[in-house]
Amino acid sequence: MNKERRDERQAKKIVERALGIHLEHADKEGGVDYLSTDGRHAVEVTRITDGRKRAGRDALDESRTTGTLEGELQTCWLTITPDTQHGLKTFLQSVHPALVKLESAGETHFDNQRAAVHVIQKGPLSDIYRPLLVAGVERASAVPDHAHRRHTHQVIPSLGSGGTSSGSDKALTLLTEALGKKEDNPRKLKASGLQNRHLFVWLDDDTRFDIVRPLSSEAPPWHDGFGLPSTPPALDPAVTQLWVVHEGSRLGWLWDGQTWRDLREG
Ligand SMILES: [Zn+2]
Repeated sequence: MNKERRDERQAKKIVERALGIHLEHADKEGGVDYLSTDGRHAVEVTRITDGRKRAGRDALDESRTTGTLEGELQTCWLTITPDTQHGLKTFLQSVHPALVKLESAGETHFDNQRAAVHVIQKGPLSDIYRPLLVAGVERASAVPDHAHRRHTHQVIPSLGSGGTSSGSDKALTLLTEALGKKEDNPRKLKASGLQNRHLFVWLDDDTRFDIVRPLSSEAPPWHDGFGLPSTPPALDPAVTQLWVVHEGSRLGWLWDGQTWRDLREG
């Protein structure tokens, strides 16, 4: 007998509220997670996440707690690094001192492409740029109007990926590819034999950045191709409705079989 999980209950509430239906936990022995009391809807809850990204996060945590960091920053710095980068366990140990030097050189930004050219041309900042390039920093920026804050300024790393997500349509393609590997979801929905077969997909902070970006609250504003997808999702025929919701931001999309809807709450 399968117990109802917390994220399943939360998905249930979102679907119930959006559709005005009542769902009951049904997955007692491996069937779909929920069936509606009116006998018309089956709901299966799943998650697309990425252990590799979680490993990167854990490695960064380790870097935060091990060893001292050389030098003192005059302001906080944000950095972005691919989640696949090697050596994240010592990321701060190499990046922090390099940013201290960059700051002393009067710089407030770092961009890996420009830096790479600078190093090839043996520019004056080459020795500072090199460890940042090796550590996989794609961009770094000093937080503006922040130096006066009375705390120990620090590097605030985030794990992204090389800007491969060009918009919501691309993210949707990657998402449906990932769903294609989870064959038990459509199998359970099909076995329900019901008319409306909903697949509810949770994304979270460990989901690949190029999939999660349109729905992440850390994402760029709601334009530049990051609105609703413009094409239908490539789904197994057993799935008639697709819900995609980010666990942290609660931003989400619903494909109702005909069109995309924005699920933003409030
Ligand atoms: Zn600070």
